[in-house]
Amino acid sequence: MKSGLSAPVSSQLGRLRIDLGALCANFRRLAATAAPARCAAVVKADAYGLGAAPVVSALARASCRDFFVAHLEEALALRGMIGAEGVLYVLNGVARGAEAVCADAGIIPVLSSVEQCRAWQAFAQTRGGTAPAALQIDTGMSRLGLDLQSAAELAQDAGFLAAAPLRLLMTHLACADTPAHPANAAQLAAFAQARALFPQTPASIANSGGIFLDGAYRGDLVRPGVALYGAAPSSEAMPLQRVVTLDAPVLQIRTIPAGAGVGYGLDYAASAPRRIATLGIGYADGWPRHLGGRGAAWRGGVRLPMIGRVSMDSMSVDVSALAPDTLAEGDLVELIGPSQSLEDVAREAGAIAYEILTRLGARLHRTYAHIGD
Ligand SMILES: *Cc1c(COP(=O)(O)O)cnc(C)c1O
Repeated sequence: MKSGLSAPVSSQLGRLRIDLGALCANFRRLAATAAPARCAAVVKADAYGLGAAPVVSALARASCRDFFVAHLEEALALRGMIGAEGVLYVLNGVARGAEAVCADAGIIPVLSSVEQCRAWQAFAQTRGGTAPAALQIDTGMSRLGLDLQSAAELAQDAGFLAAAPLRLLMTHLACADTPAHPANAAQLAAFAQARALFPQTPASIANSGGIFLDGAYRGDLVRPGVALYGAAPSSEAMPLQRVVTLDAPVLQIRTIPAGAGVGYGLDYAASAPRRIATLGIGYADGWPRHLGGRGAAWRGGVRLPMIGRVSMDSMSVDVSALAPDTLAEGDLVELIGPSQSLEDVAREAGAIAYEILTRLGARLHRTYAHIGD
């Protein structure tokens, strides 16, 4: 879990509510779409900023058994939470010298180069001969993974296969969020060649977007991340439940005369008297600074335009559209919720939902609820 601040002693922190019921409902929908492939959960980067510990416990109770993180440290922190039958994969592989820690914890490294494969094999030989691993093939993204030629050589190597029994053969799609992109089919065809080299090994291709390409992309195990957290990975995706609600407290309300400026640089100047509210969330909480003067907060379905620059700990909205007695200091306004989705915020900020989620700051007061489901 993000360290965060514990129970708020004042009501001035931004509030981040994470609906674990909606998370589990999204998991079940994705699993039903992917079936008969199994559905894993990608919980790297603290479960995309939402808190890996509560997210993993909730998903484990919803029968999720396979989890992916990026780093060994992340896997070690979660190991105790997923039960003996759970499997934890480390996408970025294992560093030299960390093999024993990884294997002793029963964590499966995703090996992505010949050098990593050889180092893991050598390690396995010091340990009674076997240490299971996953193997990643680069089918066109040029990020991590072996090329087909190296994979073919490894597939002929009985010593390697005995030392490192392969639990999973995987690849990653570069363009799964664009279903019509020709790279998808090209990567699938390249991966079919890799699968033929390791016919006994379960295969995994699809991230969230890949699940909504056709069934050929689902393989034996799908690896959604962002869709679990409620963001549609592509236009083809089914509707998902909202997992994240972000509210900001009103710190002050004031009326400013025509000509008054607001915030650093006085970028905004009122053309007429306005009522404005200062909110207790700023860019240090992950609200994009780029939304200064263009984003909005919402209250009861009314849009409250952002004015001026986003500060570190606060920002201002124009609340003139609200009846004067409907908003008071200490009240909350919506930043992500029923009126404004995560995708809306990302689009307006020139960002992606992943970036908004993973930047949500540690000092937001996180609460976990079981509402959807
Ligand atoms: C992050 C990641 C995923 C999950 O991607 P989403 O688009 O969030 O579903 C799956 N596989 C790999 C290799 C990843 O790095």
